[in-house]
Amino acid sequence: MKTLKTLEPLTTRLLEIRRIQSAASVLSWDQETYMPAGGGAARAEQLATLEGLAHERLVSPHMESLLNEWIDPATGQAADSWDEPSRSLLRETWRDFSRAKKLPSHFVIRLSRECSLAQQAWVTARTESRFAKFLPSLKTVLGLKCEEAQYLGYKDSPYDALLDTYEPGATVAQLTPLFTQLRARLVPLLKRVQASEVTIDDSCLHQTFDHTKQLEFGRLVLVAMGYDFERGRLDLSAHPFTTSFHPTDVRVTTRVFEKDLPSCLFSCIHEGGHGLYDQGLDARYYGSPLGESVSLGFHESQSRLWENCVGRSRAFWQCFYPILEHTFPEQLAGLSLDQFYAAINRVTPSFIRVEADELTYNLHIMLRVEIEQALIEGRARAEDLPALWNDSMQAYLGITPEQDADGVLQDVHWSMGAFGYFPTYTLGNLYAVQFFEQAKQEIPQLEENIAAGQLIPLRHWLEQKIHRWGRMFTPDHLARRVTGHGVSPEPFLRYLEMKYGNLYRL
Ligand code: ZN
Repeated sequence: MKTLKTLEPLTTRLLEIRRIQSAASVLSWDQETYMPAGGGAARAEQLATLEGLAHERLVSPHMESLLNEWIDPATGQAADSWDEPSRSLLRETWRDFSRAKKLPSHFVIRLSRECSLAQQAWVTARTESRFAKFLPSLKTVLGLKCEEAQYLGYKDSPYDALLDTYEPGATVAQLTPLFTQLRARLVPLLKRVQASEVTIDDSCLHQTFDHTKQLEFGRLVLVAMGYDFERGRLDLSAHPFTTSFHPTDVRVTTRVFEKDLPSCLFSCIHEGGHGLYDQGLDARYYGSPLGESVSLGFHESQSRLWENCVGRSRAFWQCFYPILEHTFPEQLAGLSLDQFYAAINRVTPSFIRVEADELTYNLHIMLRVEIEQALIEGRARAEDLPALWNDSMQAYLGITPEQDADGVLQDVHWSMGAFGYFPTYTLGNLYAVQFFEQAKQEIPQLEENIAAGQLIPLRHWLEQKIHRWGRMFTPDHLARRVTGHGVSPEPFLRYLEMKYGNLYRL
């Protein structure tokens, strides 16, 4: 049986490429955290150069000849004489190679540069809440993404080509029924919640909470989750995110609003979930697909599992609420655990996706997916976005934002060229509940552990079942290995109906 040892000429080259990409990630992280505004244009060029170098190396004739030696180009598979890790490594490298090979180098460099510039234009447009300021960049990026879909190729919809970048194997045909099922039960559930006699007051979360103390509490929860600060950092950024340069250096960010306790708190837990995945990848495989996360849907499942299934559960706050009370004694005086638990789970249609409750969150995603699919399929134009957005908000959530900053300009994704990314949020939500239910079955004391603040058994379970495998299996295969079936909306819908049924006495 042939093993990874034989693949050394290939893995050495992959390692070089990964190091270039990691260097680019450091520059991106810096761009979002500490870079002075004046550095923007130069940074766009630096990033574009590194992206170009990495791409050039990946599609080099040398790489092609190495892969052709071991892979059947017709099937993209290696022969049975290889052991399983080698077969997976070859399959996934072939996937990356053949996708990259379809994109000309000049196109990759141009896309990277335009996206960096568009991101900067978006920041200004959002600050001023003026969509018109973002429109020229958006048109450029959209045009390039349509071109990219043509280069990559697709069967049914050009949107499939982009979707596959983030969630290998996912298609419009697979997602549409999933979204339809979700909508069919989420919309009536929202109506029942809104008609309930129970009203939840969350004004307690919007008093003044000291900036430093909020950050300290966020750090405390991250430590309890097992996020390793010897191999990580917590910094501030306009939008919370996680990035990894290596399993030994995984960065998370958050933001703090003094009048909004949940924002810093839940973004720390959310990004911590992402961070645990990246810290849990097998460092021996750094550089190869076996050392990378399997898909963005899986990545998001980790953050949503921690943020929602754990962080918004009553069990979690049994342990952490007394600590929070101790941190903010004046603000939380006289507020019971149950009142706090209800406040952090209040359902209300709102403008901002990242602050949405668990029930309305996926409605925010659906409207974005519909709009971006229409843009990529040429059924809508960039200049129509604000109107499309506001109509959809009204249709799904019954509200209309007063300004674009709270509407169409709120997300960074389109400026980054990340069309096809949004569906991974919903997939993440569905997977999160599937994994959490499975963990409950396999760790019988999980509830008690969480209530006692012992979160390490869950982290360990996730590491063993998901993190350490990297891209050894396809996303669907890995989901089946962990839970026995592929992605399904059923466990998620049951979980929400149960949770809000209790909270709102439905
Ligand atoms: Zn996330």
